[in-house]
Amino acid sequence: MGPARAETARWGKKGAMSKPCPKRDELSDRWNAAANALRDLEALKIGAIRDGDRQVAQWDARIQEAQEDERLAQREYERHLAIHGCNE
Ligand SMILES: [Zn+2]
Repeated sequence: MGPARAETARWGKKGAMSKPCPKRDELSDRWNAAANALRDLEALKIGAIRDGDRQVAQWDARIQEAQEDERLAQREYERHLAIHGCNE
């Protein structure tokens, strides 16, 4: 496609969702899921502390993993935006 298509893209709506991009949506969903999983684990840990569970430490390991998952998902999402430019 030539310059006409680029021109169309430029005149599209401004803002975060100006260009449809299934890959961006997929990465965004994955990031959201990872963030939700992390929140759930933190809530479970708080419940375990409240209930006097002696194995609270096991939650820390799972929370650390979930934090790493969330960071990776965020990084992938941001890298996609930087490479693909679909947030412009
Ligand atoms: Zn994209």
